[in-house]
Amino acid sequence: MIVSQVPLHEVPVVPVGVEPWPLVALIHLQAGIVILDESSRVVFVNEWFLRRSGKQASELIQHHLTDVFPHLISSYFCSRLALSVKTGFPAMMSHSLHAPPLPLYMPHLVGHPPALLSQTVHIIPMGKQAARQSGRQFTLVQVTDVTPTVRREYLLRTRVDEMHHMARVDALTSIGNRREFSEALESETRAALRAGESLGMLMIDIDHFKAYNDHYGHPKGDQCLREMAALLKRVVRRPRDRLARYGGEEFVVLLPGTPLAGVVEVGREILEQIRRLEMPHAARPGGGIVTASLGAVALVPALPEDGAVLLRQADEALYAAKGAGRNRLASQSAGVTELMA
Ligand code: GH3
Ligand code: MG
Ligand code: MG
Repeated sequence: MIVSQVPLHEVPVVPVGVEPWPLVALIHLQAGIVILDESSRVVFVNEWFLRRSGKQASELIQHHLTDVFPHLISSYFCSRLALSVKTGFPAMMSHSLHAPPLPLYMPHLVGHPPALLSQTVHIIPMGKQAARQSGRQFTLVQVTDVTPTVRREYLLRTRVDEMHHMARVDALTSIGNRREFSEALESETRAALRAGESLGMLMIDIDHFKAYNDHYGHPKGDQCLREMAALLKRVVRRPRDRLARYGGEEFVVLLPGTPLAGVVEVGREILEQIRRLEMPHAARPGGGIVTASLGAVALVPALPEDGAVLLRQADEALYAAKGAGRNRLASQSAGVTELMA
């Protein structure tokens, strides 16, 4: 019988035939229960604790926990226990703030490496007055297995992180999407404003892409967009530069700390690399290869709202490049547009 875990002198005297129900309850509770005496020796340990510690009752009863689990010496658990015994105040060690204090493992995963239980531990001393009156002072240590809660929290957190990522990444090209870009534009505009730095922007739009889609089919069009994103990623290399798919076949690049000359340089490199891809585009007027038009702008922001001004100017420059025959770059500075083929 399990009552053998408890030394006989500790078992309350009960009339013959009457079950010591409180004791039976303690033994079978689905939480770890250890009762320590005034010298911190174990006087009671229940089944739950024994199964998860892999110990026999005889290894624990009348022993100090630190004799059985030497790693507990100078642990936070032991100092908290000593404090509770001294002051008579209970203490709680939650899983979110403390590593699992006791070496308790999942009992049912035979053949698997033992998994340490996530634990919440309560240290509950007997009241000071009762201890004085009885001349004994017992402390209850209760361990709750919070592993399922921790796992659920982990899954939830992972899911939230995934959703956060998905909300900011374009599914087709795996570069940032418009939402991510808008956030970056806002924070970089503020940073440029504080530093008095130039903020550069490139707006890139594939030429005659509708005709490409109509001619080669949507899957080929998707493939073209992916290749374009990969090319832009190769050219836009500096850590603070931000690249995003702004719309269907439209990409945008933010170049912090870059004056217009630098923006134009990056833009020309992009224009050139797209031409060098020599991706056939038989359906464009005159036939030929896939090209793009670019708008290049830069400004030193004077207001947080200047990010929107930069976007509008980049769009206007791009429009100018399209109007001038496509496959070229237009830069705009102080209202003056300059075209480069
Ligand atoms: P322009 O030279 O003036 O830029 O002409 P365009 O045909 O490139 O521009 P327009 O805005 O008329 O057409 C853009 C096309 O891009 C329309 C649509 O078929 C295509 N498109 C937009 N998003 C996607 C996408 O996710 N996948 C594919 N395959 N095509 C897309
Ligand atoms: Mg286009
Ligand atoms: Mg477009």
